[in-house]
Amino acid sequence: MTFAATVLTLYPEMFPGPLGVSLAGRALREGRWSCEPVQIRDFATDRHRSVDDTPAGGGAGMVMRADVLAAALDHVADNRPVLAMTPRGRPLAQPRVRELAMGPGAIILCGRFEGIDQRLFEAREIEEVSIGDYILSGGEMAALTLLDACIRLLPGVMGAASSGDDESFETGLLEYPHYTRPQLWEGRTIPEVLRSGDHARIAAWRHAMAASDTRLRRPDLWERHEGARVQSPSGARRHDGNE
Ligand code: SAH
Repeated sequence: MTFAATVLTLYPEMFPGPLGVSLAGRALREGRWSCEPVQIRDFATDRHRSVDDTPAGGGAGMVMRADVLAAALDHVADNRPVLAMTPRGRPLAQPRVRELAMGPGAIILCGRFEGIDQRLFEAREIEEVSIGDYILSGGEMAALTLLDACIRLLPGVMGAASSGDDESFETGLLEYPHYTRPQLWEGRTIPEVLRSGDHARIAAWRHAMAASDTRLRRPDLWERHEGARVQSPSGARRHDGNE
C-alpha cells in the first residue's frame, strides 16, 4: 500500500524537495509513498500558455485561472481527496492529518499569485486547507508541510511504532518537556522524577506537565480538551480536534 501524493504546481522542481531526505526520503525510496508533481502550465490552452489573469474587479496581482486548474485536476482525479492549499481554508490539525495518512493519498493543488478563481471550488469537490494564519508566497511549502505530517504516520516510517502516539496534539494536549544527558548542564539538573525509574510516577509527572503547559501556552487547546472531557459520557477524551 502506497500513499500516493500528486501535486499540481507551477514549480514541480520543488518536489519531493526536503521530503527526499531523512525519514520521508527513506520511505519514498522504500515505496511507502510516492510523489508525482504535475506542471499546471501543461494544461494551459492559449499560445502564451497562461495560467493566470488579472483579478476581476481590479486590484494588485494575478489570479489563477479556473479553466486551466480544472483541466489539470480532471487529468489526475481518481478516488483520492483533492486538497487546495489556501489561507482561506480550514486550519490543518492532527486529526485530519491522521485521516489522510490512513487513506490512499492526496491530490494537492498549490496556489501562487493572489490565489485561485473561486469558481473552481464551486465546480469541483475540493477541500481548502490552511497551514496557519500567515501568508506564504505559494502553496508548495504548505503542501510539503502537509505531506511531511502525513508521511511520518505511514506504517513503517517512524522507528518505534508507538512514538507517534503521545505526541503533542495526539492527546489533545501539548506534549510534556523532554530531557537527556548530561545529567548536569550549566548548573541545571534533569527533574528528579525522570531519574527515579518509577514508571507510574514518571507517567503521572508527564501528564501533569502536559496539562499545565497546555493550559499556560495554549488556552485554546486546553479549553477544547476540558470541554471534550466534560461532554463525553464515558469521561474518555474525544479525538475530534478540529472537526
Ligand atoms: N491573496 C491571498 C494570499 C495568496 S498567497 C490571501 O490574502 O489570502 C499565494 C498562495 O500561497 C495561495 O494561493 C496558497 O496556495 C498559498 N498559501 C499562502 N499562505 C498559505 C497558508 N497559510 N496555508 C496554505 N497555503 C497558503
